Amino acid sequence: MDAPRNQFTIAKHVSVTGVGYWSGRTVWVEFRPAGPETGVVFVRRDLAQPVRIPAHIDYRIDSPRRSTLEADGAQVEMVEHVLAALAGLQIDNCEVWVDAPEMPGADGSSLPFVEALDRAGLVYQDAPCRHLVVRQSLRLGDDDCWIEIHPSPTADLKVKYRLDYGDHVIGRQTLAMTISPRAFRRELAASRTFLRQEEAKWLQSQGLGLSVSPRDLLIFDDEGPIENTLRFPDECVRHKILDLVGDLALAGCPVTGHVIAHKSGHKLNADLVKLALARGHLIGPLRKTA
Ligand SMILES: [Zn+2]
Repeated sequence: MDAPRNQFTIAKHVSVTGVGYWSGRTVWVEFRPAGPETGVVFVRRDLAQPVRIPAHIDYRIDSPRRSTLEADGAQVEMVEHVLAALAGLQIDNCEVWVDAPEMPGADGSSLPFVEALDRAGLVYQDAPCRHLVVRQSLRLGDDDCWIEIHPSPTADLKVKYRLDYGDHVIGRQTLAMTISPRAFRRELAASRTFLRQEEAKWLQSQGLGLSVSPRDLLIFDDEGPIENTLRFPDECVRHKILDLVGDLALAGCPVTGHVIAHKSGHKLNADLVKLALARGHLIGPLRKTA
């Protein structure tokens, strides 16, 4: 029998400290419990007046290779791995206090955030959780990079992602899975950000990520990851699904449906969220995925 899916928050404050990839400075982030209907809200505590930045597509601005949110002139960058951790664990309401305009890069994955949130524990809230449900198939992109969402007979989010780096050592990887807290912890959370060596060199030539070493994420040369070893043989496609989970969280509630993506990135993922919000339905409560 399906149990009603109510909203969840965390039981206590927990923090994570790490270096921001873009600024190179140490960033402190604290997760705090929040009441029903709060959603996920970033709070820039380093500003003279703390600014609240909702994790919603309406506050997303385009920036290369990362997801950025902006409200009242304040920004927070690299939110996708934090949002993936929260959405992956089905935490609906949470304040994310931060003392810098970006999240810690950590190890390039969501694992440090998942471990912190697991230390906090979850609290069941007496309020039904709305879900975004699509009633018709939607597709965005072109023949090379595209993303689709299809209606699903269950209340789950299913994802199939295909990554294609052609003859490069990253190659072609495909993975399909149903997203649940258990699957997120085991299959996705530890997968790390990856770059090709030429991309990393270009970013550093622009003065970005100067303090990032190949041991802080995955940088591939023609042979494989430099000074690093893979956590999964198909770690790259797992990370693309992790990013997708984080981007879909910008709907402001869980998305149900079957997403199929081919080489899509943050921008296309975000555009799908906008289209699904415009064409979909917000309903609830629905059953909770185990
Ligand atoms: Zn990522």
